[in-house]
Amino acid sequence: AKTHGRNSYKLYTADLNVQSSEFMALANSLHRALDRHEIRVFYQPLVSLQTGKIVGAEALARWQHPDLGIIMPNKFIPVAEQTGLILRLSEQILFEVCEQMRIWESMGLDYGWIAVNLSGQHFQPDNNLLEIVAKVLKETGIDPLHLELELTEGIIMQNVEFTIALLSDLQDLGVKVAIDDFGTGYSSLSYLKHFPVNALKIDRCFIQDVTSDRHDATICLAIIDLAHSLALEVIAEGVETQEQFQFLKDHGCDHMQGYLFSQPLPTAEFAKMLSDGKSL
Ligand code: C2E
Ligand code: CA
Ligand code: CA
Ligand code: CA
Repeated sequence: AKTHGRNSYKLYTADLNVQSSEFMALANSLHRALDRHEIRVFYQPLVSLQTGKIVGAEALARWQHPDLGIIMPNKFIPVAEQTGLILRLSEQILFEVCEQMRIWESMGLDYGWIAVNLSGQHFQPDNNLLEIVAKVLKETGIDPLHLELELTEGIIMQNVEFTIALLSDLQDLGVKVAIDDFGTGYSSLSYLKHFPVNALKIDRCFIQDVTSDRHDATICLAIIDLAHSLALEVIAEGVETQEQFQFLKDHGCDHMQGYLFSQPLPTAEFAKMLSDGKSL
């Protein structure tokens, strides 16, 4: 673990040297943003393909910058990753999401489950992910079944043994685990059966042309098949058209998210959609 730490430090400084002044400015103000809780959580509904109803949401970070307005995660997540602030940021988000779930529960809103994105840095042995998740669950008192953690294939492959042990500890706590952007990493499929996970998320790049590109269609069907034969749920990302929705429904995909149903929404708007019972 020590050697690994030294290597990542080298990467980290090398990367910083080639960064733009915009990067440096963001890095400086990200510290302040975390102190002032400027990172907000938006919720993108997850929808059952069978019923067309909301079954949950993915929590997505938005930086409400006092001068620059809303900054998207593609801009600041890489900054957070390279400065190590991603750990604090994710912890804030995890806490806010669980607090919000408790509020929704007190309002009698059935929000299903909420998925939170994690970074590879959480899966380094010294970063206490298990303890952090256990603490958040204990302090907010929410049922762990309502929380899902998303991680990419790349994260799993960086430290296979350790990650498998950590994921199975997380599952023992009762939280669910999903592999994000499935199919875009270069994970070995043979490992998949050993990973204690509950769901695969098909990346948007395979969904985009699924109704026109034979190869994309084949890949989606293979992922759905693979997931189901391993007793995992499948979620399609980035569904934008009725045709994509129908294709996925016809082929037994379980859930989807995408602009067809809704963009990521501020808390109050997501809550309103839930209470209105919006469905497709
Ligand atoms: P992701 O985890 O793959 O999240 C899905 C992204 O696809 C989101 O972008 C979402 O807004 C977008 N999306 C959803 N439906 C559609 C659609 O129909 N069409 C199109 N074109 N896009 C769609 P977003 O919110 O900009 O987030 C980008 C990435 O930033 C996320 O990709 C995730 O990797 C990262 N990210 C966001 N929030 C967090 C966070 O709290 N923690 C960490 N570690 N990463 C985060
Ligand atoms: Ca995700
Ligand atoms: Ca994704
Ligand atoms: Ca993606």
